[in-house]
Parts: sequence; C-alpha cells; structure tokens
Amino acid sequence: MPPDNSYRPDQIEAKWRARWAERGTNQPDLDHPTRPFYNLMMFPYPSAEGLHVGNMFAFTGSDVYGRFKRLQGHTVFEPIGYDAFGIHSENYALKVGKHPAELIPQNIANFRRQLERIGGMFDWRHALSTTDPEYYKWTQWIFLQLLKAGKAYKKKAGVNWCPFDKTVLANEQVIDGKCERCGTAVEQRFLEQWFFRITDYCDRLLANLDGLDWSDTTRTAQRNWLGRSEGAEITFPLHGLPTPRSGEGPGGGGITVFTTRPDTLYGATFMVLAPEHPLVAQLTTADRKAEVDAYVKAAAAQDLVSRKVGDREKTGVFIGAHATNPVTGKPVPVWIADYVLMEYGTGAIMAVPAHDERDFAFATKYALPIVRVLAESGDGRSDSSAPAEAIVETDGMVLVNSGRFDGMAAEAAMRAITQQLASEGRGKAVVQFRLHDWCISRQRYWGPPIPVIYCDGCGAVPVPEKDLPVLLPALEDFRPDDSGISPLARHEEWYYVPCPTCGKRARRETDVSDTFLDSAWYYLRYPSTEFHDRPFDKTRTKTWCPVTTYIGGNEHAVLHLLYSRFLAMVLKDLGHIEFEEPFTRFRAHGLIVKDGSKMSKSRGNVVIPDEYIAQWGADTFRMYLMFLGPLQEGGDFRDAGINGPRRFLDRVWLMVGDTTTGGEIPKDLVTRWHATKKKAAEDIEGLRYNTAIAALMEFVNAIKEAGSRDRALIQDLVVMLAPFAPHFAEECWERLGHTTTVFDAGWPKWDESLVVSDEIELPVQVNGKTRSKVVVARGADEATVLAAALRDETTKRFVGEKLPKKVIYVSNRLLNIVVG
Ligand SMILES: [Zn+2]
Ligand SMILES: [Zn+2]
Repeated sequence: MPPDNSYRPDQIEAKWRARWAERGTNQPDLDHPTRPFYNLMMFPYPSAEGLHVGNMFAFTGSDVYGRFKRLQGHTVFEPIGYDAFGIHSENYALKVGKHPAELIPQNIANFRRQLERIGGMFDWRHALSTTDPEYYKWTQWIFLQLLKAGKAYKKKAGVNWCPFDKTVLANEQVIDGKCERCGTAVEQRFLEQWFFRITDYCDRLLANLDGLDWSDTTRTAQRNWLGRSEGAEITFPLHGLPTPRSGEGPGGGGITVFTTRPDTLYGATFMVLAPEHPLVAQLTTADRKAEVDAYVKAAAAQDLVSRKVGDREKTGVFIGAHATNPVTGKPVPVWIADYVLMEYGTGAIMAVPAHDERDFAFATKYALPIVRVLAESGDGRSDSSAPAEAIVETDGMVLVNSGRFDGMAAEAAMRAITQQLASEGRGKAVVQFRLHDWCISRQRYWGPPIPVIYCDGCGAVPVPEKDLPVLLPALEDFRPDDSGISPLARHEEWYYVPCPTCGKRARRETDVSDTFLDSAWYYLRYPSTEFHDRPFDKTRTKTWCPVTTYIGGNEHAVLHLLYSRFLAMVLKDLGHIEFEEPFTRFRAHGLIVKDGSKMSKSRGNVVIPDEYIAQWGADTFRMYLMFLGPLQEGGDFRDAGINGPRRFLDRVWLMVGDTTTGGEIPKDLVTRWHATKKKAAEDIEGLRYNTAIAALMEFVNAIKEAGSRDRALIQDLVVMLAPFAPHFAEECWERLGHTTTVFDAGWPKWDESLVVSDEIELPVQVNGKTRSKVVVARGADEATVLAAALRDETTKRFVGEKLPKKVIYVSNRLLNIVVG
C-alpha cells in the first residue's frame, strides 16, 4: 500500500494540532456562547517527572466528555492550568538543589507539551499558573475580602510539626504519628496562625450536599468530614470553690462539657480535661502540681494524631479538684488525660465508665467508680449493678439509677434530661460539627505571602488592595529552619516596610498561604484571565459559572471541594458572585493499575505516556485508556491490549477511503446504526466510555459483515469516534470531503422507532452460570436458540464434547444448558 494511503498518526496528529491552533478551533467565544458548558478537570501540580498515565487517564476522560458536549451543540470551555505553589514543589527543589522559581517554568513547559500532544481540547488563551503574580495577586485579594468580613483571624494553635520538613502538617498528613512525606515523628507546637472561619458555614455545607449532582461516595466523604452530631452542653459546678461573680472568668461557670449522651448524665463519675485546658493551672492543687506539670509537658510533646488513636493505653493524672455532677449533686474528681483534645468540643468531658469503652478502661485502670444508668427493659426489674464491661447500645435500653428518669427509654431521656438542665440554666441542646476552622498559614517560602503588615502602633494592618500583589521575593536561601518562622523573615529588605496607616517602620507577615487556597478559586479565574483589574469579570462569571461538570480524583474529594464550596459561599455573601455551589456536577474518576498491581517506581512498572504515544499515536493511546474500564472505576493497563484499538482505527481508516452512496442499507444494519448512535451517546453521557467504544467496534463489524460501504454509516462512525480519537476523526472527516472541523458536525441523530430491533440478545447459561449470549429473532423457538447457542465459540467451550442433558428455555429471557 502506498505510504500516503495508510494511517500515519505521527503525521496527522501534528497536522491537526497545528490546524486547531491556527484556526482557533478550541477557543470558544466566551462572550457569546450558545448553551455554555464549563468542562473542568482538576489542574495538575507540575512535577519534574511530567504527566503520568493516571493524569492522562483523568484528563482524557474529561476531554472526551467535553468534546462530546461540543458535538451536542454546546459552546464548551475546557481550560487547564498548574497548581504550582506548595510544599511538593519546594521540597523537590530543595532535594535537587535548585530554586523552585527556576524549576517550575521548566516543568510547566513540559506539562504543556504533553497536554498538547495528547490532543486535549484546551483553550490555551486561558491557561494559568497559581505562581504567576497575575494570579496570586487575586489569591491575596481574596484573603483581604475574608479579613474585612471577619472570616479570617489569627490565633495561637496547637499544630502538628514535622521537625525534618520544618513545617506545619494537616492532620491528614500525619500517618501513625509520622510525617507522610518524610516519615519523621511528628511533634506538637503552638504557633500563631491565620484561620478561615469555615465552621460558620457547617450547616450550609451540609444542607447543600443533598441538592448536588455528585458521586455518592464524594458526598458521603464530605458529610463524614463535616461530622454533625447532636447533643448537649452541660456545666458541672466546681465543688468547694466560692461561686465567682456572675460567672465571669475562667472556671467561673464551672466546667462545661459537650456530650452526645445526656441520657447517661447520672452515671458521670469523674471528669477529664485536655492537658492544655485553661482551667488546669487554676484548679490543680498544690500537692498535685508537680505530677500534673510533668504530664502536661509530656502531652505537649506528642503529635495530635497519635493522641486520637482509640485503642492505645490510656494515661492520666488527678489534678486534686472536684466538680459536682449537676443531677446527682455528688462530687466528681477532675483528671487530665491526653486522649481529650482541646480542639474537640469544649476540651473537657464527663466520663461515664459504665457506658463508654474509653472511660471504662480509664476507670478500671485508676479505680474510679462505675455506675450503671442504662439497662435492658423487660420484666420491670432492670439490672442496676455495675456492668462487667461498657454497655454502649441505646436501643431497647431504659434508665436506672437516674432518679425521676428511671424507666424512661434512652432516646427519650436524652431530650428530657437536656430540657430539664436547660430550664435550670445548667445546660442546653447543641449541635456540634467535627470540622475545624481552616488553618491557612504555612511557615514556608513557596507560596503567596499573606498580605498583612504588623505595626507597633496600629497592630495588624491589611495591605491596601492597590499595593497587591505582595510579591514573593526571589530568595536565594529559602530553606525552612527550626524557628518555626518562615524564611521570608530573614529577608530584611522585604520584611521591613512602612506601615500603610502611619508610615512608621513595620513588619510584613511572613507566613505564606496554603496551596488549597490557590486551588479553591481557580475555576473563577479561568474565564477571566485577560482581565488585569479584577479577579473575575462579573459578566463572564455569570455566563460560565458555576462549573457544569467537574471530574477529578478521589484524593481531593474532601478538602479541595469543601474549601472551594466554602469560599464560594463567602464570596456570594459578600456580593462578588451569584452562586454558592461552585460545581454543579462532580464525578470522581478511578485509577489505573499496571498488570494488576499499583504502579510505582520501585516496582518498575510505571507507564510513561510519552513512549506509548510515540509508538502508537495519541489517538490510539486515548482510545486504549478509555477502553480499560468505566471512567469512575479505572482499569488495568496491559501492553498487549493497546494493539486492539490501533487495529480498530486502521480498519476504520480503510473504510473511510472506500465509501459509496445511494445504495440500499440492509434492515438489520439500519437498526444497528440507530442503536449504536443511541447507545454510544448514552454511554458517553454516563462516562462508560469502554462500552461506548465496544459498541462502535461492533458497529464496524456489522458494517463489514453486511458488506456495506455506505457513506452515511461511515460518516456517522467518524463523528462518534471524534471524542476518543480527535486527530484521527478530523483527518477522516477531511478525507470525506468536509472543510470544517468534525466537532461542528453535531452528534448523529437517531430515529427511536428504528432503534428497537426484531432481534434480541439472550444470555446463555451452562449449568446455571451465564457464559455467553446469542442474538436471535424475538420469539424464536427453543431448537433455533439452542442451535445458535451451540454455534457460539464461548458456549462450545463450556459445553465441551458432551451432549446437553437438559435444556431450560424461557422465551425472550434466557437459555440454560445443563451438561453432565
Ligand atoms: Zn516531614
Ligand atoms: Zn502604623
């Protein structure tokens, strides 16, 4: 065959990349769109290794969807960018001894090359990097809006500190007490940090989830992270201390606890405070001081995550003070223990050893009283003796040893006891969330400086908006040190600055902000990248936001999405945008493994996309990735498999070169044609790309088997292939005589009346197990169906040489062949 007639991906892919750029094919008119569709994928962190196959799978999956939406007549905006600030980039730069400001542009250039090579429908005019001052100027602007609105504040907080990386770690970055990055044991430190008041938004963040078209797993993860629980706040007066004036001052009102089990209040026999609790110093008696101080010091050295591990040995110290159980009036000793954390509830708990496993273990160890207050109801003579282990269930339980509440069901008692306390001013019903405020401070170099100036006379002064961006200075030595203060503090020229209010010498905030802040608003910037005087243009934002469909990884299903949602709510409340949920539809994609196992450098089984693309072409690579499994599940990459999609494209290539018009199309093929148009559309809509591709392959077989060369069929086939193999489809479209892009062709319409076939597909079972299927005429008799089944290779394999012992046939439903 002459070379110019065969399928040469290397030539046509370069040709179409150039033509798309030259014709602006992927540059939608953002101001006059028809049915705008914002197709977003999670922007990558530009690593030195380049895009890996997992990125390619996710991006291609999102791109297929965007291209499909375009074929359906939407104006599709598909932007891409780089999440290039943060500890990943900084640590890598430290490792290789280069500056991140030098490395990142190289990495970005490499990522862009790869993203273009894979054939993404990206609108490169709107590409962005979070490290660009044009971008982070507005990240800083957003911080200032939150500060002005009282949604940003500074406080001293206990944080996880990695002594090796010399930085604060989020709880989820601590694994078994060690830094997830370097494996060093994590310590606790107290630092002044900036926080965003995301906890003000708990109710909205939770309530809105019900209305979102998101993957169920993602919504559940968000719900769990928010962690709403109902309970009561109860105050235990301090025993033997004079009642302070009007409840002012620490401890004045006693010790307040949050509990989800107010029904067990009569069984509260001691209290436990977090070692950091402000009352500890005040309440500790002189004889207990030495032991308490030592315990407090030891607890402070531990990381917060280890302290939360449920099953480790409980330790604690009695501080010498007593409080009073508000319902029994009995004195209860006050202890401290490191399993109680300041950051949860009130930093104090009432301990009910009979009905809480942790409290039971603690009471047993330190010989504290155990009083049962719940028992199985039944014969009216409930057991009121101390249990041998904690009884935690509430179903079917009634109260005992609980005064006038005896005999009441546990659920009812929760409300009744809370109500009684509320009426006496000693407690109230409260809803609590597990979510904490968002700590955005990072004592590192590679991030946007937080735009605040400290003046001895004026205090913390926001940097005036006209002075933004606060540029990150080019710092030779950006290594963090053990001081817990950002390296920026060492750069005096930058650090000292006139106070914007009084003009006296003042100091800049040296913390940079969390990368999650960069990524919490990037979708707002994409449509407005050409505006330099505003973060996002009002009209553009109204036209394009919220995002129509967002596809991304499960690893960001909690924090990134939660922070983006929170920020949208704040920006809406402040009048900057008109919506509060940024992502109308979200789907989490699956993962790719290689030959059944996870890809890793140490296993040496990492798929390097560039090599495969060079050998097979981007279109074959895309098709193969999408053929591996449903997008939301992922699949197993095997080298042998890539040949199949390539052979398929070769076949279609030949068909395109040899078409006829005007002939009769056999009836069965007409049915298959319409059914394929429908099935491929539905499968792509449902992100089941693998079955959509399979349907196209079957369609090609059907055309071949019918001996057809009909141009109408082959044209539709090319259009349907376009989302998966865009360069290939463009070339074929041109070969079919068209002069405009195939993506303007429209998804082929189907005739619903022609979709239903007179044929049906019937599952074939062998000994009751489904092994294959046959296509037969609707209502075919048993003999015909059996004969068809026995011609099928797969069925033959399972039946073997034996004659069927018995045949069970349910007309139009199934065939079961029983063999001996
Ligand atoms: Zn570390
Ligand atoms: Zn000042």
